[in-house]
Amino acid sequence: MSHATRHAAVKTRFAPSPTGLIHLGNVRTALFNALYARHGNGVFLLRIEDTDQARSRAEHTAALMDDLSWLGLDWQEGPAVGGVHGPYAQSQRGEMYQRFFTELEEQGLAYPCFCSQRELELSRKTQLASGRPPRYAGTCAHLNAEERQKRLDRGLQPTLRFRVDNGDVVRFDDLVRGPQAFPTDGIGDFVIRRADGSAAFFFSNAIDDALMAVTHVLRGEDHLTNTPRQILLHRALNMRTPQYGHISMIVGADGAPLSKRTGSRSVRELREGGYLSLAVVNYLARLGHHYENTAYMSLDGLADEFELTKLGRSPARYDAAQLDYWQRQAVQHADVDTLWQWMGEAVHAVVPATQREAYVAAVRGNIVLPGEALGWAQVIYSESLPIRAEVSELIGQAGGQFFAAAVAALDAHPSDYTAMVEQLKRDSGAKGKALFKPLRAALTGELDGPELAPLLALMTAARARARLARWA
Ligand code: GLU
Repeated sequence: MSHATRHAAVKTRFAPSPTGLIHLGNVRTALFNALYARHGNGVFLLRIEDTDQARSRAEHTAALMDDLSWLGLDWQEGPAVGGVHGPYAQSQRGEMYQRFFTELEEQGLAYPCFCSQRELELSRKTQLASGRPPRYAGTCAHLNAEERQKRLDRGLQPTLRFRVDNGDVVRFDDLVRGPQAFPTDGIGDFVIRRADGSAAFFFSNAIDDALMAVTHVLRGEDHLTNTPRQILLHRALNMRTPQYGHISMIVGADGAPLSKRTGSRSVRELREGGYLSLAVVNYLARLGHHYENTAYMSLDGLADEFELTKLGRSPARYDAAQLDYWQRQAVQHADVDTLWQWMGEAVHAVVPATQREAYVAAVRGNIVLPGEALGWAQVIYSESLPIRAEVSELIGQAGGQFFAAAVAALDAHPSDYTAMVEQLKRDSGAKGKALFKPLRAALTGELDGPELAPLLALMTAARARARLARWA
């Protein structure tokens, strides 16, 4: 749907800083915003927060757009698709920010600050030492024009600070965490423009949400304490504040924030590792959001049942086994073409094109990642079949007579698996596991796997015969 056809009663956004590949935590934030917008038939907006020039890279922006598209999280407003509130990269919005800096300065709501990093650090330490929460001491808050000029003449590059009056309380209703109250005494005057002239995060993020008419912001809990500052900026500039909801962080099995060691992976890694996008989406949608419905769902299904009231307040625990559960579901539900592409060239080189549908149907229940698809292809289509020690032991236990009977049964019914098994049962006296295990072992070299009938149907009768005859 284009942005023209969606009415923006709800407009959410994802506002990543393009400093690296997007990881699971960040992409879950994107997903929740996209689902909420879709739920309300609203707009999902993408904004690139690249004001930190040293760390932002165009290739990261390209990669994250590509990752979002792969996941199906299309945005109706933002880079590549446009919209009336652009540009959508903050690096291109400098002039707009400048206008608001000037407005705040003219109203006396912001002032240049010449304090050096060293001075600020010293002041911070002194406050901490005397048991006070560190905040800006107000050193430059009341410099007169002459004092400012003197510092400018010395070549000092000021930052711009926003004035925060003491004695007030900023209140808001968090969509996830309920009523919040932050006394302004604990905030202190904060920097909105860096010394190099670029906008600080608090500022550009707050201003853009208002200018872009964002109605709902779902973001990580780590931003909760930024929100009162941003609300103060909206008030000073007479702008509309979106509704904020701070979602709980994802933690590893040890309860600590997700790290490389505890499974934090980039979307890119998962994709290249063979995870299907709907597996990732079904998993992440349930990480911190409760769905009554435990079925595998499309994005639309997940959006229909997405509710702000179902966002949890306690940390969401990452569980790789759950991700694999949804991956199995995704493999079960994907269409043949998708799975065929997913299996990759190595499989295409082994499986004849005429058998692709039958092959996909035969193995899809038994594979999680594409590498396993290649394994079964080799079992069916390769001449050689390596037999591991435990497998040959089982074959040995069944004995030569069993396999002689199996060859005879196959010769009598080369293309009728049921009839073949019936005859083998009769002639060998084996049944149940004692029949199927050795049969499977000799034909596939494995003790478990997909159902035998469809595998056998794909294998040439000569190959199946040779594999059985080898043990007769
Ligand atoms: N660029 C910020 C981040 O990536 C955005 C935070 C927000 O969603 O407001 O953390």
